[in-house]
Amino acid sequence: MSTTTLFTPDIVVTMDDVQSVLTDTAVLVRGGTIEAVGPRAELETAHPGAERVDLPGRLLMPGLINAHHHSGMLRGTAEHLPVWEWLRVHIDPMHRVLRPEEAEAAAWLCYAEGLLSGTTTVVDMWRFMDGAARAASALGNRLVSVNYVGEHPDFDYFDTLDDNERMLRDWAGAANGRIMPWVGLEHPSYADAAGQRRAIAMARDYGTGIYTHCSESELEIADFRDRYGARPMFALEELGFFDVPHAMIAHAVWLDEAEIDLIAARGVGVSHNPVSNMKLASGMAPIAEMIAAGVAVGLGTDGEKENNNLDMFEEMKVASLLGKLRTMDAAAMDSWQVLRMATRGGAAAIGRAAELGAIAPGRKADLVAVRTGTPRMTPLLPAGAHANVHHNLVHAVRGSDVDMTVVDGRIVVRDGRLVHADLDELIERVRLLVPGLFARRAEWIAAQDDLTGLFHR
Ligand SMILES: [Zn+2]
Repeated sequence: MSTTTLFTPDIVVTMDDVQSVLTDTAVLVRGGTIEAVGPRAELETAHPGAERVDLPGRLLMPGLINAHHHSGMLRGTAEHLPVWEWLRVHIDPMHRVLRPEEAEAAAWLCYAEGLLSGTTTVVDMWRFMDGAARAASALGNRLVSVNYVGEHPDFDYFDTLDDNERMLRDWAGAANGRIMPWVGLEHPSYADAAGQRRAIAMARDYGTGIYTHCSESELEIADFRDRYGARPMFALEELGFFDVPHAMIAHAVWLDEAEIDLIAARGVGVSHNPVSNMKLASGMAPIAEMIAAGVAVGLGTDGEKENNNLDMFEEMKVASLLGKLRTMDAAAMDSWQVLRMATRGGAAAIGRAAELGAIAPGRKADLVAVRTGTPRMTPLLPAGAHANVHHNLVHAVRGSDVDMTVVDGRIVVRDGRLVHADLDELIERVRLLVPGLFARRAEWIAAQDDLTGLFHR
């Protein structure tokens, strides 16, 4: 019989359909699933044998879903550059020299950073994904594993569709379903026509999702017009990218109204990545319009090189602020809407709307405890005319205010520390690998006659 655990925080932010904020409430978890959310005294009496996790001075909320991320170890080393320049001079040369042990070390550290700041599910587009899956299995997070695939002579230094297919075969459903391998393409144009067809067929054959970056930069509009004679979302539709069990797009900054209607009708998920979009000066995504049209929109940090941290609380704040500035409307992107994006919206965007993103019976027990006895949470009013729990969570709290993270019913961060790994060791491993990676990249760049010709799109 699976163990039963009773979590008793001061406040439960359920993210249910009516945004219930509950006090005197306990959450009963059996195995990896939430069995009951109800009056504390009642559940205590009914389940005297349950293991107790008392959480005084804590608020319990659903684990955050980071809908767009790349593991990596370039943090702060490629700044102040427009997106194409940044890709050509820093990122692509890194991909040409990256080794599996470096990719794995980066994944361990990035998932650790995520778990410590309340992220329970991460969509990671990265390389050599066996290592990433090993990291997630051990650390305890959920992972939507998306290979960074280039299936084109110009992009033959990325993972291949063969690598991606191995992930689908070897890891689907591993770690009690926490590892979810999808098909990835760095960008639709990183595959030739045969590669695009095979990627789509693979997602269909394995009954899984397909994920790509698209419409991040305005330049892509002209590029798609030249290649396909259509705006990006219509080109993807034409190519068959949406004829799969689930399709998801990172960024979607430059969509027009007809494209928004199209992806809403086709159930395509979107990751909104406001920090990355601001930092790389990509633009302001029409998020309010997408949500109004019924698009499942999640929130993502993008990678350590685009952000430069993986703090989903910070991402929520920026999503709120950018949404307000974009429309010059202080009421735009309200706090509940932003919290939904980081929880249920992300769950829907990855096609897991029924399982993740809320504290409710039948959902997976992915939970985060946030400390409330802090300046950032004071005053804290769960109800009444000045109720501010949601505003505090979006605009005041930081990831470092999380001190317990539960995934699939297992506590993986306790008292602000990883349960299954030593953070200092993960940091040290990356620190030791960075000089070699940077030296090989510099060597590769020095051997090129002309970097400008390197990046064909
Ligand atoms: Zn990205």
